[in-house]
Amino acid sequence: MSTPKFVPEPLAPPEAAPDRALGDMPAPEFRRWTLETADWIADFIEHAGARPVLPSVKPGDVMKALPEKAPERGEDMGVVLIDFERLILPALTQWNHPGFMGYFATTASAPGILGEMLTAAVNSNGILWQTAPALTELELVVADWLWQLLRLPDQCFGMIHDTASTATFHAVVAARESLDDLAIRSRGMSGAPPLILYTSEQAHSSVDKAGIAAGIGHDNVRKIPVDDQFRMKPEALDAAISTDLLAQRRPFCVVATVGTTAATAVDPVPKIAEICRRRRLWLHVDAAYGGVAAIVPEMGHVLAGCDQADSLVVNPHKWLFTPLDLSVLYCRRPDILRRAFSLVPDYLSGTDDRQAVNLMEYGLPLGRRFRALKLWFVLRYFGREGIIANLREHLRLARTLADAIHNHPDFELLAPVVFSTVCFRFCPTRISESQLERLNRALLEKVNASGKFLLSHATLNGKLTLRVSIGNLRTTPGHVERLWELIRNKSRELTL
Ligand code: PLP
Repeated sequence: MSTPKFVPEPLAPPEAAPDRALGDMPAPEFRRWTLETADWIADFIEHAGARPVLPSVKPGDVMKALPEKAPERGEDMGVVLIDFERLILPALTQWNHPGFMGYFATTASAPGILGEMLTAAVNSNGILWQTAPALTELELVVADWLWQLLRLPDQCFGMIHDTASTATFHAVVAARESLDDLAIRSRGMSGAPPLILYTSEQAHSSVDKAGIAAGIGHDNVRKIPVDDQFRMKPEALDAAISTDLLAQRRPFCVVATVGTTAATAVDPVPKIAEICRRRRLWLHVDAAYGGVAAIVPEMGHVLAGCDQADSLVVNPHKWLFTPLDLSVLYCRRPDILRRAFSLVPDYLSGTDDRQAVNLMEYGLPLGRRFRALKLWFVLRYFGREGIIANLREHLRLARTLADAIHNHPDFELLAPVVFSTVCFRFCPTRISESQLERLNRALLEKVNASGKFLLSHATLNGKLTLRVSIGNLRTTPGHVERLWELIRNKSRELTL
């Protein structure tokens, strides 16, 4: 299969180098490399499945291949691009490969890539409204568009972060700030009672990290048990809150998940929301993976109760065809977020126009990339219909694979298939439980060593689980059939 290639001849002879001492690359040279690169990207995307998904490199290989120092004299761009292709690309795991089905499958879609290219070109920095008016307003508009696509009621303030981890950290800080009597922003945490954050045993580690970074303390992040479908048990949450109150601790926040990392379970948000309302706790929903499924009409139920959350995070860079990174944090109480983070130094003061939103006041970073552009391109290019059609296909492919696994006597599903992720293991009856972990690790290695697919693993109820996540726009029914065939063939080899 053909793979893209940069033209190997340098554009200018080396003696042209001194001209580069001042200023940027000359326009004709830039035009040439832009066209070459655009062509290369188009080929790369067209043949996204041509390279092995997993590179065959060892730790340190890339560093060894690179010079110890940056070059003294400028180098020809053609040589740099060839080195990218020669040294860097073969040492990358191919996240845009249709066989990439580990963790959560993603797509850097073509319109998203175009948006990212233009973001780099305009290099806008959304510190204040006036440093980037269109960046600021487009960010608020696309966040609102996405909110409407999710079919959540009313309007909600939404802003873009790099990742869900950052978004959840901001939500936890806002929850902390909402405890008016403690005045933590000015007094800090010393003297405050231990604040308690609740989440499920299956929540993502970013919730723990938010607790650690916000000064809550890891010991004060309570892991609430889950039911047989890996969903938080609301009665256990309520009981844990009562215990902490009796011990003079201060419950303040619950993080529920829509689409947990391992099993993709959906916590019972309506019941959790009722507890939060009664107990006056901040409710944050981590819908980083599963949230976008609600765009599909028959999947709307996954966000039930989320209209009552104080904050919610959704990651278009996971399952909404947007190149990394782009995570949207919604907050029903942006005044609290602003109270937590606003600090305007003199050199940034000036615009008193109340219409002007300065996004730096709602979060930790000052500088702000123009991430909204790529999401705008994605939402406009695919439209609601295109998004629904693609998500529905991923859901269907996952269901088809799950049915095949369920119907095979030597395999078992280990979690309900709620979205487009299938958790399963190889478990032939003649093999004892104690040997199954080793067997499934070996199977995972063999499948991944094929270079055609990448799967990942998790542990559910103490059982090593293989995970197939379908979410790449270029994954076809044929890929899923070939994967299932490969899994069966490799499992047979292991038991011969
Ligand atoms: N929340 C869930 C449920 C996840 O599965 C993940 C990562 O996979 C995250 C949060 C963290 O996402 P990010 O990489 O955007 O920080």
